[in-house]
Order: sequence, then C-alpha cells, then structure tokens
Amino acid sequence: MIGFLVWLVYRTLKGIFSVKKEQGSVNEQISEMVQDPSCLTFIPKTDARRRVINGKTYYFCSDECAARFEKAGKVREQISINDNKQQEDL
Ligand SMILES: [Zn+2]
Repeated sequence: MIGFLVWLVYRTLKGIFSVKKEQGSVNEQISEMVQDPSCLTFIPKTDARRRVINGKTYYFCSDECAARFEKAGKVREQISINDNKQQEDL
C-alpha cells in the first residue's frame, strides 16, 4: 500500500515537472530576443539575420546593419593590427 502511494506521488511530481519544462521551452521560443549590435535594436531571433564574424554569431535587423557592422569590424581589426605594430617597434 505504501509502495503504491510512493509510486503515485512520484508519478504526480514527475508529471508536474515535465509540464513545467514544456511551458518553459515554449516561453523561450516566443520571448527570445537578440540585439542588433549595429543599431542596438532588439529583434526576435526568428526574424533576425544571422552572421558569423570571427567565429562569433551576431544577429541583425537587416542586411544593411549586418554590412555596416562587418565594415566597422574590419576597421577595428586594422586599428588593432596597427597597435600591435607600434608595440613591436617600442
Ligand atoms: Zn539594425
């Protein structure tokens, strides 16, 4: 009899937890927002344009923003390369 009660409690708890898990994943899908690093706008991940730059994944609201960010990234890279050269000279 006790075994049956334990089993019943276990089953009930397991049911509660599995329902909670399902609700959590649904909420994540709806509310997951990503920030466009170019114009700082938040967009739903599903609507965002994805770019992988230097091994990092970025999300953009439009192709224009992606292109602008990629250009800015290249400028930054050139600056950091120049900085390294200056340090070597010193
Ligand atoms: Zn944007």
